[in-house]
Amino acid sequence: TPEPEAKKPGLLGRLIGRGAPDAPRRVLDDEMLESLEELLIASDMGVDTALRVSANLAEGRMGRKISVPELKAALAGEVARIMEPVAKPLPIYPKKPQVVLVVGVNGSGKTTTIGKLASQFKAAGKSVVIAAGDTFRAAAVEQLKVWGDRAGVPVLTAPEGSDPASLAFDAMAKAEADGADLLMIDTAGRLQNRADLMEELAKIVRVIRKRDESAPHNTLLVLDATTGQNALSQVEIFSKIADVSGLVMTKLDGTAKGGVLVALADKFGLPIHAIGVGEQIDDLAPFDPEDFARALVG
Ligand code: GDP
Repeated sequence: TPEPEAKKPGLLGRLIGRGAPDAPRRVLDDEMLESLEELLIASDMGVDTALRVSANLAEGRMGRKISVPELKAALAGEVARIMEPVAKPLPIYPKKPQVVLVVGVNGSGKTTTIGKLASQFKAAGKSVVIAAGDTFRAAAVEQLKVWGDRAGVPVLTAPEGSDPASLAFDAMAKAEADGADLLMIDTAGRLQNRADLMEELAKIVRVIRKRDESAPHNTLLVLDATTGQNALSQVEIFSKIADVSGLVMTKLDGTAKGGVLVALADKFGLPIHAIGVGEQIDDLAPFDPEDFARALVG
């Protein structure tokens, strides 16, 4: 099937050009491998991962003739191999409520992702409660209410500036009383004051554990794919202040080069539960390693 005009060419598409499928076989030599490494690095894969992927690709292929489609398939295969182990939907626990703590820097897409997830769970027949735990950002609370309305899910709020842990405790009580399947707790994303944020998250966890020792069952870190290599340092920082159990990568519909997902998978091995592919409520997709690899390679 022909590609739509607007589709941006992937890595190899850019390296070898659009007429690629008919190009003659070329010897995979050092020069070609170096160009490939540069492309991988430019795709936000980071140096370490780019070199590892190229080295794996070169194995058994160096000095041999290879056609463009063969090279594309090989590269997509290498990428998919790294991504397959991390492609996992959000695990569902037989706990009521299953508590999902959502963390990430402001602007990463936390609010939007919570709305989209709530809508998906609702559609799957689950009852959901949302707690607007970023009590210092009035706009975030308002935005979460809008998403709650869209998804048909109640959003618990507290007065501006009040203690998020106290809201989390009340939300646990409400979710239990309602017999809700899931409680999603939004949190603040002010990394400027890391010590405060760490304390705030720890306190939220402490109070919800008063009601359920096994909670939170998931700690989702939401990352904006357009921030490139910054996403890596965000994983490092948030893993220090919370027990991050999985990732959601947002804004993969935009200008994100996508390679950062490969770097994340290679470096941390954290599950990627879903990807954000737009601003609408249905724009949250499961992460498919093969589709992703094909799209990245182009
Ligand atoms: P928060 O500050 O982390 O809660 O971030 P928001 O959920 O408010 O999202 C910040 C901006 O990113 C908003 O304009 C969202 O519409 C946008 N956004 C979130 N997820 C996606 C996505 O997957 N794709 C696109 N294109 N935009 C997104």
